[in-house]
Amino acid sequence: MKVMAQMSMVMNLDKCIGCHTCSVTCKQAWTNRSGVEYVWFNNVETRPGIGYPRRYEDQEKWGGGWVRTKSGRLKLRSGGRLKKLATIFSNPKLPEIHDYYEPWTYEYDMLLNAPAGEHTPVAKPKSLLTGEDMKISWSANWDDNLGGSAETMADDPILQHMSEHVASEYEQTYMFYLPRICEHCLNPSCVASCPSGAMYKRVEDGIVLVDQDQCRGWRMCVSGCPYKKVYFNHKTGKAEKCTLCYPRLEVGLPTVCSETCVGRLRYLGLVLYDADKVAEAASIEDEHALLDAQRSVFLDPHDPAVVQAAREAGIPEDWIDAAQRSPIHKLINEYKVALPLHPEYRTMPMVWYIPPLSPVVDVVASSGNDGEDAKTLFAAIAKLRIPLEYLAGLFTAGDTRPVEASLRKLAAMRSYMRGINLGEGKDERIADAVG
Ligand code: SF4
Ligand code: SF4
Repeated sequence: MKVMAQMSMVMNLDKCIGCHTCSVTCKQAWTNRSGVEYVWFNNVETRPGIGYPRRYEDQEKWGGGWVRTKSGRLKLRSGGRLKKLATIFSNPKLPEIHDYYEPWTYEYDMLLNAPAGEHTPVAKPKSLLTGEDMKISWSANWDDNLGGSAETMADDPILQHMSEHVASEYEQTYMFYLPRICEHCLNPSCVASCPSGAMYKRVEDGIVLVDQDQCRGWRMCVSGCPYKKVYFNHKTGKAEKCTLCYPRLEVGLPTVCSETCVGRLRYLGLVLYDADKVAEAASIEDEHALLDAQRSVFLDPHDPAVVQAAREAGIPEDWIDAAQRSPIHKLINEYKVALPLHPEYRTMPMVWYIPPLSPVVDVVASSGNDGEDAKTLFAAIAKLRIPLEYLAGLFTAGDTRPVEASLRKLAAMRSYMRGINLGEGKDERIADAVG
């Protein structure tokens, strides 16, 4: 066992209201400079939706992450380093500015000064770059207005095969927000794809950084990252990415996004993991076994053998203490409510998510609450508004069972705590039923 420490984050999606306070405060702190105007180290996506940059999840298009070869080995999807060097001047798989977003405004003139006519005038979106009508009518959170409608789904690679889940009734539409930062992966393909050795993972806390002096601007990290969380600064000619606010962490402060999050949904903490298990866990062929494999890498920080091994590995006492107090291991391994974003990319992401329970269609209609009492609790789980398959496509490589287990636990906790808070006492049936 080789014990290492990693800074990680769990985000509780039921609490995100899409206010973008995290995005704006992060931008103000880190990318409020020329050359990176289009860059959001933290972005908040509308789901269902096509994300930022557009369709970043379409791995065939961008060629990011790791794939398994016929011989069973894991390799970078877009080829090895030699191939990369050969194609280095024509790295073809980079998102363009309109894939991030084209700055735009509305042509308010259309609205205010249109001559009287039969139809209500519409304010057209207009590019701030060209002054013309927008080339592609899209920008971050454009999908908000579509609420899981057929139009959004037709544009979403994950949803194309899910036509049966298209919300045909207005009251059954759904959406939620997915805040994203760099995953600070345990098996980072950005690091593996950098020909200059500029991308690196800090040994002490696993934060993935770009050495600005080493970076030669090849941008292989941009195409290599399946989450598209490395950006190119057009002014300096160097790659930049989320630093997990390491200068703040080093003096005991949380990341800017955690500190300013209006929903208080970002749980930040240290985990201990077994570095000897990472390669094996990332290589698991059966996609439905990936989640368990990725969970198995984390070590119980209260296990005396782990504590002993951590001490022998030189991890400071106060870090071991921090890992014991951190909620991350509990949420991922003990309660099993947190899930990784796209574990099938095999980079071993270290930002995990508690999936949204969301309003529950039939139960809301019939009881006026969303499964907050024991009677409606389990009926509620069967009638979720957000299809389990959609959440499974995001968090468990398509396996609905861990998503359902997580949501059952969340619904049970909500119901259980509601009973206690209302002075109705503990309902042991709930605890028994969830296990
Ligand atoms: Fe690298 Fe971050 Fe992308 Fe992971 S999410 S591959 S650490 S840039
Ligand atoms: Fe969501 Fe918090 Fe960001 Fe607001 S600040 S968008 S609640 S993650």
